[in-house]
Amino acid sequence: LDLKNDDLRKLADLGQGNGGSVVKVEHVPTGTLMAKKIVMIDAKSSVRKQILRELQIMHECHSEYIISCFGSFLAEPNICICMEFMDKGSFDSIYKKIGAIDINVVCLVAHSVLEGLTYLYDVHRIIHRDIKPSNILLNSEGEIKLCDFGVSGELINSIAKTFVGTSIYMSPERIQGAEYSVKSDIWSLGITLIELATGQFPFCDVEDDDNLSDLEEERGSDSDDPSDLKNKTPTHRDSTFAFNKRNKNKRLSKRASKGMAFDADGMSSMSIIELMHQIVREPAPRLGPQFSEEEEEFVDACLMKDPDERHSPKTLLEYRWMDDARDSTFDLRRWTTTF
Ligand code: ATP
Ligand code: MG
Repeated sequence: LDLKNDDLRKLADLGQGNGGSVVKVEHVPTGTLMAKKIVMIDAKSSVRKQILRELQIMHECHSEYIISCFGSFLAEPNICICMEFMDKGSFDSIYKKIGAIDINVVCLVAHSVLEGLTYLYDVHRIIHRDIKPSNILLNSEGEIKLCDFGVSGELINSIAKTFVGTSIYMSPERIQGAEYSVKSDIWSLGITLIELATGQFPFCDVEDDDNLSDLEEERGSDSDDPSDLKNKTPTHRDSTFAFNKRNKNKRLSKRASKGMAFDADGMSSMSIIELMHQIVREPAPRLGPQFSEEEEEFVDACLMKDPDERHSPKTLLEYRWMDDARDSTFDLRRWTTTF
């Protein structure tokens, strides 16, 4: 497909991230719906061409667990990447809309992500590098797919020059400067699973008076039981700051909720550094007592702090919980019609 901007009709904005924005478009000549990611890159033309060459690998990714790519092109000063459109969006927008995700769905998410990571690594030697709820997409066929994987080293470099690539899903060893490995993706998967299953990001800020009072407000007068929080639809802020019984004393700036958070504000940067310290120093977060042994065992295995002890995607696929995913009779397609 020879893609060019003139053939693409914009239908809607899908969202904005740190690296660019995504719009829903129709490829008019063929009537195909696509998600067009627009990445602003401040780089020499030779570097842009290199990035385009590297993005070609995306065309060679054929897996039911990976977003397919229609093509990419330069539209100065941007690079546009046209992907398969996923009509139910990403899991971060889903849980922010409906609250904690059914554990049966979370189980299928874990399975799809592991299959996707295994495919990327075994077939293309690619490490994803950015596993998080906004990069896991769903469609109304009930398919779960990964997007935004690190195919292009040059693209990663260019974005890293513009944004400090600090993600709140980053593994302890990455924070301490180790190279990315497939094990770092597994840590990010563990954090993602807790976030989806509980409806809240697992590190939170209960020391901060300001946030504590927000919390009191949100609990309201109808109940004093903090576990009631999980039955309420979380707001964006909730998702990062809600009460977490297992992880008191956690601090995290409100600004961190967007994922990459170093900005001009000294205070918030400070809190992100504190969060990073905490990820390195404190015990890893856990799923919580309301979940089954199988579920906890799996998430604990993803969140081993020492990458040498942490399992690879292949070994994790052998866990009991992943047998449940393969044998699952949960109707994901029907579930997508409920929100
Ligand atoms: P970050 O830049 O920190 O990685 P992000 O993943 O939210 O954050 P983008 O990758 O730019 O940022 O994506 C923005 C939003 O666009 C996502 O949250 C997702 O909901 C939506 N989106 C991305 N790709 C698709 C797609 N193929 N189909 C449907 N929606 C998509
Ligand atoms: Mg993304």
